[in-house]
Amino acid sequence: MFHEHAPLDNLIARLHLAAKVRLLTGASVFTLHGDETIGLAPMSFSDGPTGVRGLTFAGGPRTALLPNATLIASTWSEETAYEVGVLLAEEAERQQIHVVLGPTINLHRSPLGGRLFEAYSEDPLLTGRLAAGYVRGLQASQVGACLKHLVANEAETDRHTVNSKVDEATLREVYLLPFEIAVEDADPWSVMAAYNDVNGVPATEQDHVINGIVKGEWRYRGLVMSDWFATKSAAAAANGGLDLVMPGPEGPWGENLVRAVEDGEVAESVVDDHVRRLLRLATRVGALGTPRVWSDELSGPSSPTRRDQLVRLAARGMTVLTNNGVLPLSKGKRVALIGRHAIETIDMGGGSAQVNAPYQIGVAEGIRAILGDLVEVVDGVEVRTRAIPARPAEIRDPQTGKPGMRVRVLGADGRVIDDRHVDEASTLIGFDDNLPEPAARAVLSGVVQVEGAAEIGVIGDGSWVVRVGEESHQVTLSLEGSDVGEFILRPPGWTTRTVGNGALPLEAEVVPTGKFGRVGLAARPAARPQPDVLAHAQRAAVAADLAVVVVGLTEEQETEAVDKTTLALPGDQDALVAAVAAVAKHTVVVVNAATPVLMPWIDRVDAVLWAGIPGQEGGHAVAAALFNDIEPSGRLVTSFPVVDGASPAWKVEPTDGVLEYTEKGFIGYRGYAARKAPAPAFWFGHGLGYGTWSYGAVTTSLSPSGEPLVQVDVTNTSQYDSREVVQVYFEPVEVDQPVRLVGWSAVDVAAGATATVSVTCDPRMWRRWDVAEAAWTSLDGRGEFLVARGLGDGRARTPSNYIP
Ligand code: BGC
Repeated sequence: MFHEHAPLDNLIARLHLAAKVRLLTGASVFTLHGDETIGLAPMSFSDGPTGVRGLTFAGGPRTALLPNATLIASTWSEETAYEVGVLLAEEAERQQIHVVLGPTINLHRSPLGGRLFEAYSEDPLLTGRLAAGYVRGLQASQVGACLKHLVANEAETDRHTVNSKVDEATLREVYLLPFEIAVEDADPWSVMAAYNDVNGVPATEQDHVINGIVKGEWRYRGLVMSDWFATKSAAAAANGGLDLVMPGPEGPWGENLVRAVEDGEVAESVVDDHVRRLLRLATRVGALGTPRVWSDELSGPSSPTRRDQLVRLAARGMTVLTNNGVLPLSKGKRVALIGRHAIETIDMGGGSAQVNAPYQIGVAEGIRAILGDLVEVVDGVEVRTRAIPARPAEIRDPQTGKPGMRVRVLGADGRVIDDRHVDEASTLIGFDDNLPEPAARAVLSGVVQVEGAAEIGVIGDGSWVVRVGEESHQVTLSLEGSDVGEFILRPPGWTTRTVGNGALPLEAEVVPTGKFGRVGLAARPAARPQPDVLAHAQRAAVAADLAVVVVGLTEEQETEAVDKTTLALPGDQDALVAAVAAVAKHTVVVVNAATPVLMPWIDRVDAVLWAGIPGQEGGHAVAAALFNDIEPSGRLVTSFPVVDGASPAWKVEPTDGVLEYTEKGFIGYRGYAARKAPAPAFWFGHGLGYGTWSYGAVTTSLSPSGEPLVQVDVTNTSQYDSREVVQVYFEPVEVDQPVRLVGWSAVDVAAGATATVSVTCDPRMWRRWDVAEAAWTSLDGRGEFLVARGLGDGRARTPSNYIP
C-alpha cells in the first residue's frame, strides 16, 4: 500500500507551487495538463456513461451507443454491468481516453428527474453493486471509472444553485450508500463532485462528505474532480477535499489557489495531497513514466461482434410489464406497427451521455428484418413540442452536396473565421471548436427535400434572418434558462409552414443575443391532423392479425439539465393507443422510455413491453424481445406511479432554493410499502419475462463467511426456457426503518425444470446511522425476509433474527 507513496512524493517535491497548482485544473474541456519534468503525460477524460463520446461535447468520433443505464440495470446482473465496463474500456482505448466519466449512481428519487435514464435505480444496493461491476470492467483494462455525482443530485431544476437538504442518517443510509458500496467493492479511480449544495455547502466544498466520509472513513485513495463548471471557490474547495477543477484552462483555482497557499489559507500539504491523487490516477491509467501502449486490435463500433453484443445487452433488460399470452409473437402473422417511435426510435437520452453513434436501428427496421412484407408501418401522432434539427438524410450541404449543412462563422470585423461542413443539421459554435477569435455571427445553409407541407426553420438563441426559398423572415429567439447545459440541450426554435415539392434552399444568419450555443436548421414534414392519423392507424390495425403500438418519451423529457413536469406520454399518444386497442384483434404496446410513464389504457391492451432507451441496436433488440429470440427478462429498477404525484417523493422544484428530502429513507418501493403513496402501477422488481414460476419453501442459514443466506427452489412452470431473478427483501421491526432489498440472485431454468437458488444477503443493509453517536449501529435484527418478484408479488415470508 505504501510502495507507491514515496516515488510519488519524490515527484511532487520536484515541482514548485505554481507547477503543482497548474496540474489541478483541466488543460481543455476534457484533457489535463501533463508535465514533462516528472514524466506526466496529459490525461484525457470522456463522458460516459453509455458510450465514450470523445473529447468534445458534440460531433465527436463515431462510437458505440449502448443501451442506457436503466436498461442495463434492469438485467439485475453484475456480470452484465462488468461486460458493459469492458466494452466501454475498449471504446476508450480506441480513442486513447484514460478515464470514462461514469457510472452515474444518483438514485431515482422523484420520477420527474430528467436524468434518471442515466442512473441505475431507486435502490442503493442494486445501484452500488451494479456500479461496482461496471467499475471493475472498466478498470480491468486500465481505464479509470468516475462515480458521479457526489451527492444528493437527484434532480436537474436549478441544478447549479439548488441546496439539497438531506438529514445525515438518510444521506448515509441511502444516498451515499451506492458510492460507499462501489468504493468498497471496486475501488474506482475517480469520483465527481456534483453541482448542487448539500445541506448548505457546495458539493465541491464538502469537507464533511469528501474529506470526512469519503477520504476519511472509507479511506478512499482516488481523485475527486468537480463536475464541469461546478467549482465556486479556491480555498474552500481545495480545503474541502476537491482535487481537480474541470474543465480548463480557465477556472477559479490557478493564481487564486497559489495566493491562498501563500497567504496561509490553504496548507501546501493540501495541494500536495491533490497532486498525489492526480499522479496516482496517472499511474493507474498509464500516464506516468513509461508511456502506455494502446491496443489497436479492438472491435469497432459497427463490427459484427458489437452488433450482437448490443442487441443482447438491450433485449435482456427489456421488461414484460403485462402479458395475457399474446407475447411472444409468432413469426407468420401480419403486424400493423404503429407510432412515431416505431420509425424514429429514441436510442439515447439527451445531454452529456449523448454520443455520435455509427447508426441507429429503429423498431420498424428491426421488425421488418424478421417479418419482411408481413409488417405495415404507420407513422403516429406528433411527440415533440419544439423544433428539432432536420434529419441528416433530408438536408444537404449546398457546397458539397453531402448530407448535413454548411456553417460559416464570422468574426467581429465580418471576416469568415471558419467555414465547415457539419454532417448533421445542428452544431455548437464557439464552445470547444478552437476558433481563432470569438464568433460574432454565423450563416447556416442547407438544401432540404420537401414533399407537400413542411415545417422549416431554425434552432438557437439569437437574432435570425431566415431565407426559406424566396421568402425571408426575421426572428429573435432567446434561451429560457441560464444553465450552460441549456445552451446545448434546450435551445429555442422557430418554424414556418411551407408547401412545395423538391429541393428547397434554406439559409439562416444569426447574431447571438447572449453567447453562442447550439444552432441548427429545422425541417420536418408538417404534422397531419390527429383524426387522420388515428383513422389511418385503425385501418392498418383492422387489416392485420395484431397491432404493435410503439410509444414513448423523447429527448425533450429524458435529458440532462431539465426535469419533467408530468409522467404522461407527450402528444396524443394515449389517444392513439386507445384508438388502436378499440379495433385491433390484439394490441401490444412497446414503451420506448427509460423512466416511468402513465398508461391509462393498460387494461385495454394485451401486453406491454418496456423497451427502455435501447442504444444503436434498439430496433433489432425490440424485435428479438417480442419474438423471444432473446428473452426480455428485465425486472424494473424503479416503481411506476399510478398517476402524477402518487410517489413517495415527487417535487423537483426547490422552494426558496432548497429541495428537501422530506421522505427520508422512504424512497421508491420503500415508501410505497409503508403506504406513503398509493400502491404503484408496477413495483420495483416487477417483470414477467416469458416464464411462470412456482416457489418452494424458503430456508435461511448463514454463509461460511457469516452473511445471511436465503435458499429457495423455483420451478419454471411455463413452456419457455426462462430467467428468474429471486429477490430477497428484509422488513425490520423498527417502524422508522423501511423494508429494503438485501440481496438477489438470477438463474436460467429450462421449461418445466426446478433450480435451487441461494441468495447471499448483504450485511451492509442491516446498519443504521446513529445520529447522537455519529456512528453506525446495527438494526435490532428481528423482522422478516420477503422473497418476492417485486413487492407486489410476494412469494414467501420467513422470520429473521440476523444481527451482523
Ligand atoms: C454533467 C457531467 C458530465 C460533464 C462533462 C456535466 O454537465 O453533469 O455528468 O460528465 O458535464 O460533460
